[in-house]
Amino acid sequence: VRVVNTKGQQVVDTWAFNAADLNEFMSMEHSRVAIGRIIPGVGDRLVTNKRRPILTLIEDTSGGIHDTLFAACDRWRYELLGAQGYHDNCTDNLAAGMKALGLVPPETPAPLNLFMNIPVLDGNRVEARPPVSTPGSYVTLRAEMDCVIAFSACPQDMSRSTGRRCARPRRMSRCWINGDIHLPDRALAANSPSPQPSPRKRGEGVVWELP
Ligand SMILES: [Zn+2]
Repeated sequence: VRVVNTKGQQVVDTWAFNAADLNEFMSMEHSRVAIGRIIPGVGDRLVTNKRRPILTLIEDTSGGIHDTLFAACDRWRYELLGAQGYHDNCTDNLAAGMKALGLVPPETPAPLNLFMNIPVLDGNRVEARPPVSTPGSYVTLRAEMDCVIAFSACPQDMSRSTGRRCARPRRMSRCWINGDIHLPDRALAANSPSPQPSPRKRGEGVVWELP
């Protein structure tokens, strides 16, 4: 599946779950051990909480800066940042996207934050900076098992982690990959009714252009 950063500044929270057992999912903690670094590069295999490969990064034209350290944003994060009332967030986007497939994630695993720029400074401090990805750049991931993959275009607009030119918040896309592939015709608002997905052949490429 290819994720195209249409406008260049969007952070995309990414999850993958074993389609046969949602309790097995892509784990950033385990993946950092497997790849020996904190930012995956082309050829790196991300693994599950059972240490089995689930996604491989096979192409990256975005500059290679992603994050595996930061938790998905949630309503409490925005409360701490001073949001008044409800704020869209990646945690709820994940739940909504999975619900549209009739699934319930066992938890909100730490996501692979595509395009998110969190440098480690002085060997210890972390700081959110704008993405370095450019318009039209992309990342391609290959599934290593039948899995459910979920993306949330992060609606963070209260820190610098998603650039100012990001898409409207609340967008969500999700699909099955490497099994029977189902993909909505377009990225969907998380709360909108799900259209009938079109089945695709096993292994056929999927491209998601960010809204
Ligand atoms: Zn987010």
